[in-house]
Amino acid sequence: MFKTLDDFDAKAKRVLVRVDLNVPMADGKVTDETRLVRIAPTLTELADKGAKVIALSHFGRPKGKRVADMSLAPVAEALGRVLGRKVAFASDCIGPEAEQAVAAMAEGDILLLENLRYHDAEEANEEGFATALAALGDVYVNDAFSAAHRAHASTFALAKLLPAYAGRNMQAELEALNAALGTPKRPVMAVVGGAKVSSKLAVLGHLVDKVDYLVIGGGMANTFLSALGTDVGKSLCEPDLAPIALEILGKADAADCRVVLPSDVVTAKEFKAGAATETVPVGAVGPQAMILDIGPDSVAALTALLGEVKTVLWNGPLGAFEIPPFDIGTSAVAQAAAERAAAGALTAVAGGGDTVAALAHAGAVDRFTYVSTAGGAFLEWMEGKELPGVAALG
Ligand code: AMP
Repeated sequence: MFKTLDDFDAKAKRVLVRVDLNVPMADGKVTDETRLVRIAPTLTELADKGAKVIALSHFGRPKGKRVADMSLAPVAEALGRVLGRKVAFASDCIGPEAEQAVAAMAEGDILLLENLRYHDAEEANEEGFATALAALGDVYVNDAFSAAHRAHASTFALAKLLPAYAGRNMQAELEALNAALGTPKRPVMAVVGGAKVSSKLAVLGHLVDKVDYLVIGGGMANTFLSALGTDVGKSLCEPDLAPIALEILGKADAADCRVVLPSDVVTAKEFKAGAATETVPVGAVGPQAMILDIGPDSVAALTALLGEVKTVLWNGPLGAFEIPPFDIGTSAVAQAAAERAAAGALTAVAGGGDTVAALAHAGAVDRFTYVSTAGGAFLEWMEGKELPGVAALG
């Protein structure tokens, strides 16, 4: 178990808070503030308790060099606006610049240090670099679940050098994930969609042991359908993975996990917005057709299942949702899940970059129990891997 902000007295302490400020930027401006909004409660709570709050983050992949357009300076400004308070900035994360900035802090101040990855010792998880960071603080708080799958100096080595706690964002994330796969209310349904089976093999392999229903949708369903002898025409498909797909189906059977594949699909001959579509049973996909969404019968079957299950865990869209009308299946199922979650009938947890975009497109994000903004960390957690950044808090 991990400790939280409830477990220490922050007053007058220098608190190093690892956050994930790797936000989308264009022309030096932050274009999506979701991650800033998510970490705001931790930073304000600590500042209000009288801590000196020192935020640490990576940004992009500067590979140990001071790359100007990967500076966190513009993010400090955006963070200040989101928090409604002043956020000071130091142009290095260790050394004299950082030390002076920290020494000048008063209780309740917030300081952001420059991009950790300007030093390649960060990604190398170097003890010396972690020691230099640790010298700036009394306590360490990790509020960056989305960076917890990496054993870097600021997510791993540093946590061993100071008393370590989970921030509110990390805490909410871990509690939601535990409610979905740790000790979930059954029956549990996992929805795994997206483009390719090859990128989610480990996820599927792990889930069949954990969930009661495994819904496979999106491009990856085609590989399973094809492995079972269905002609998928010109659809995205990985025929080389047929043996592995069959192995997963066998494993699911042995584990009493019911795998749900589409029964009907929306096809088109062109992959473009407004293309002429044909909705057919999976057994009737033409040789020139591409499967780009699940059909209405499949949507109805999933909606019925949502009436039965108590927990839903979702990663990956059920169709090529970015291009209408191939968003219809994903949106319908997302709205059904959101409605049941809002009614308190089930716990709905989702994560991964494309998934958040698909749920936002469906207008379903706010009614899900929890939507994780983490991409890689969320998938690794779904694979059942131990995340170093979380383990280090234990
Ligand atoms: P992933 O990153 O693996 O979650 O994949 C998400 C991508 O899968 C999205 O860009 C979707 O457009 C794409 N996708 C979902 N279903 C299909 C499909 N049937 N054919 C082609 N691409 C798809």
